[in-house]
Amino acid sequence: MVLTDISVIKSLLARHGFTFSKAMGQNFLINPSVCPRMAEEGGAEKGTGVLEIGPGIGVLTAQLARRAEKVAAVELDGRLLPILAETLSEFQNVEIIHGDVLKLDLAGLIESRFSGLRCVVCANLPYYITTPILMALLERRLPIESITVMVQREAAGRLCARPGERECGAVSAAVWYYSVPQKLFPVSRGSFLPAPEVDSSVIRLDVRKEPPVRPADEARMFQVVKAAFSQRRKTAANALSAGLGLPKAEILSLFSAMGIAQDVRAERMTLQNFSDLSDLLG
Ligand code: SAM
Repeated sequence: MVLTDISVIKSLLARHGFTFSKAMGQNFLINPSVCPRMAEEGGAEKGTGVLEIGPGIGVLTAQLARRAEKVAAVELDGRLLPILAETLSEFQNVEIIHGDVLKLDLAGLIESRFSGLRCVVCANLPYYITTPILMALLERRLPIESITVMVQREAAGRLCARPGERECGAVSAAVWYYSVPQKLFPVSRGSFLPAPEVDSSVIRLDVRKEPPVRPADEARMFQVVKAAFSQRRKTAANALSAGLGLPKAEILSLFSAMGIAQDVRAERMTLQNFSDLSDLLG
């Protein structure tokens, strides 16, 4: 079954009485070149277990199953399960898990399904929960080698910006702490059914074995990062003072000690700056 052919998809969905849910971020891929490329650049190969989030009707899942040892795909929408059973019937190495990816025990899932395999994540994400999903995958320090995902183009810019670059925000700093991100390729809105209002990009996060900085208290460093980026029009010192409830003079004297300009903005600060500042504030 050609799962990128619009007439095939439409008759499949009609037969199952399926209608798209905007609330669940359902835009299915219809561009035939995207899924094979995602699977390949996402590292789906023998010896690898792939965790997919939101298989939809299984268009990417099938490409992953062809290349990887095993695929575990988590789908929230129970209406898609009978469709997936039909579209993926030829594959013995795919397991569909009905559930909400944000509520599942992902460490347990990876351990039980992918024992002895290298694990990667590959998914066309539901955009309404892009950041929570990526943070759940990164912060829990799951044994994942890389995360290859389709996200909104604008989100791709932010997620792949490095600390010190203009587009950088609190999320970019967290992504950079846990991984080395890169943009892989752009995908136009016309590649989906229904077409979303924005274009997309595929990005890959190569998960780091060791973080690039070593703050004494990781949680405190991320509080500092969040506070610094909380008011983007202000200088970092003003935002940090307001966000952490500390006198601005105290922040400025720490900036002096660290050799940072008094009027620096958060997006110009490096991860080392945030780590040092959080240690000094501790
Ligand atoms: N992979 C398919 C494709 O590329 O055509 C579908 C991608 S669609 C953008 C996102 C998918 O994520 C939908 O199938 C949707 O039902 C599912 N989804 C939405 N929220 C989810 C959640 N919290 N946990 C798991 N899957 C979810």
